[in-house]
Amino acid sequence: MGIVVQKYGGSSLANAEGVKRVAQRIVATKKAGNDVVVVVSAMGDTTDELRDLAEQVTPMPPPRELDMLLTAGERISMALVAMAISALGYEARSFTGSQAGVITDSAHGKAKIIDITPGRLEQAISEGAIAIVAGFQGVSQDTKDVTTLGRGASDTTAVALAAALGATVCEIYSDVDGVFTADPRIVKAARKLDRVSTEEMLEMAANGAKILHLRCVEYGRRHNMPIHVRSTFSQKEGTWIIPEQQGAPMENAIISGVAHDKSQAKITVVGVPDKVGEAARIFETLATTGANLDMVVQNVSAASTGLTDISFTLPREDGQTAITALATLQESVGFDKLLYDDQIGKVSLIGAGMRSHPGITAKFFAALAAAGVNIEMISTSEIRISVIIDGTQIEDAVRATHTAFDLDDTEGEAVVYAGTGR
Ligand code: ASP
Ligand code: MG
Repeated sequence: MGIVVQKYGGSSLANAEGVKRVAQRIVATKKAGNDVVVVVSAMGDTTDELRDLAEQVTPMPPPRELDMLLTAGERISMALVAMAISALGYEARSFTGSQAGVITDSAHGKAKIIDITPGRLEQAISEGAIAIVAGFQGVSQDTKDVTTLGRGASDTTAVALAAALGATVCEIYSDVDGVFTADPRIVKAARKLDRVSTEEMLEMAANGAKILHLRCVEYGRRHNMPIHVRSTFSQKEGTWIIPEQQGAPMENAIISGVAHDKSQAKITVVGVPDKVGEAARIFETLATTGANLDMVVQNVSAASTGLTDISFTLPREDGQTAITALATLQESVGFDKLLYDDQIGKVSLIGAGMRSHPGITAKFFAALAAAGVNIEMISTSEIRISVIIDGTQIEDAVRATHTAFDLDDTEGEAVVYAGTGR
């Protein structure tokens, strides 16, 4: 008898009916002879609604109190799921992140898990109960305050608990049948993948695919925990995220998917003197803001002027802070001006087969050209090519790329069972 950890997302728990459906699924897993530990997200769009509410009270809520507020969402879910299970005649006990032993650092809103001490969960399952845990939250080792782990981080709670408990699998339940070749909300012809390697999944998650939280994939890889992404609303086999070294080779496809990200902004520092140390000063200043930079491009300097432009992308919510910090450097560095553009989007083509297949870049760019999409920035990794384009063209670019690489499913449409996609 093994331990199965299951995580249910907000759209699977949008209302009482959803809660009951989830409870049935959990009980079925228990009846099949497993010990079950469940991680839940907040119901529907509760986390967004709580955030909006806080903002109506004050534009800058203290991070400690914001975390206290947001963690309430998951507590509502965990108690309701436990009640629904008990109504089916099984014992369930719910636990906050803190009670479940999720110990974090004290960075409110983006806390990192530093230890897991799941004694109370082990006790509950050893007594035959099903343990229900509030995802996305923990308790700071230093301050003992309640923390949150970042948006979408219930996935990470689940994989971290699965690793700490020595579970056989971590199942992530959502409103689609698994990981698709593109967001099925945009590409109706997206295809469900049966298996994805962790390295490809890391690139997808890091480049905007919302199906799995990036840190959960990293955690899974580090602890060799198989992750099975599947739907709450169907019994279908989902997508297995599998470390490369394990099991059979991945599907033979060269490309495994097209990811997109609408959450970034682009800053250009115009007219930077092309001499030693200027880029270092600019990026040292940016580093102090804590902004998480993504693509960085420096143009060749024009010989006649000795000046160059440096562009980079970052999460839109860090844009203003970055601009303010850079403005303080204008005189000392002597650059011309700062440009800010938040109407951009990133489209990424991902596939481990890229390593050994030439011509992928040419085909990608030709598909964009045929769709009338202009490329503003380019970056690559071994298994990914990303472009920054006009934000209004993202959906066209994703569809065109998906078709160009023969990813379209000819046998039917991808199903999105629930959720607002918010
Ligand atoms: N409820 C949290 C959020 O909306 C955590 C999660 O869903 O994973 O970000
Ligand atoms: Mg999620």
